[in-house]
Amino acid sequence: GEALYCRLQWVPLEEGEALLLVEDRTEAIRLERMRRDFVANVSHELRTPLTIVRGYLEMALDAQMPLPPSVSSYLEQVHAQAVRMQRLVEDLLTLAQLEGTQPAPARWVEVAELLETVATQARSVAPDGLTVEVSLPPEPCAILGVRTELESALGNLALNAVRYTPAPGRVVIGARSVKNAEGELFVRDTGIGIAPEHLPRLTERFYRVDRARSRDRGGTGLGLAIVNHVAQRHGARLLIESTLGQGSEFRLRFPATRWRWSEANRSEDDG
Ligand code: ADP
Repeated sequence: GEALYCRLQWVPLEEGEALLLVEDRTEAIRLERMRRDFVANVSHELRTPLTIVRGYLEMALDAQMPLPPSVSSYLEQVHAQAVRMQRLVEDLLTLAQLEGTQPAPARWVEVAELLETVATQARSVAPDGLTVEVSLPPEPCAILGVRTELESALGNLALNAVRYTPAPGRVVIGARSVKNAEGELFVRDTGIGIAPEHLPRLTERFYRVDRARSRDRGGTGLGLAIVNHVAQRHGARLLIESTLGQGSEFRLRFPATRWRWSEANRSEDDG
């Protein structure tokens, strides 16, 4: 009872004839699914031991006993790495979920509230001198989508903006209308910027412009891959504009069918 996956392609020949190419993709799709499931399973299995390692380290660090300075500095470093591994595992799980599952049912998500939530999270990790502002359009608006996914995508963009903007600086998280009744979420920063040659590869898993810098700032290299998947699942496009040394703007552009210029919860059957 296994499904067969085929790719069909018409190739027009001369004199009204054509060729139908049938490519069996079953094996390729099976392998891709195995890879995805394997990553998801490994990540899932690593969760519990990591939580335990982190828990004991925190108990040791909090314990009211004098430790030799070198020992507590070792413990702190091990703890920082455990936290980093946890972040990686969570991002890998998120990515596997986005690649391997159908999205939850779409609902109208209030943009103002979404932006405030993400801005609050970003402020909690922003250093002194880095302001995080929200820029709302004059009218209320809503996006037809999955709230948790939208929050994760915008959250990753905001976190990156904070991560790659030295203080003093400014991050703006906003929404705006664009042509043809389309709508856009954006995150703009006054940060380090990105050289044009890197832009096409930015959404690849583990692609970083500067590996050491990303690691120091708590990056996993998976953030923009997650953003890109969420965009695809919402029929949205990820647009990036950046000037080296001046700053960047990341935009999620939604089609008119997914964007509405009024409040979200007027009626339930709209989705
Ligand atoms: P990371 O966890 O390393 O930030 P991402 O997938 O989120 O991974 O981003 C990939 C790379 O893109 C980053 O390592 C960084 O080099 C670059 N980048 C992302 N956002 C920004 C930004 N706002 N300003 C400058 N560079 C950025």
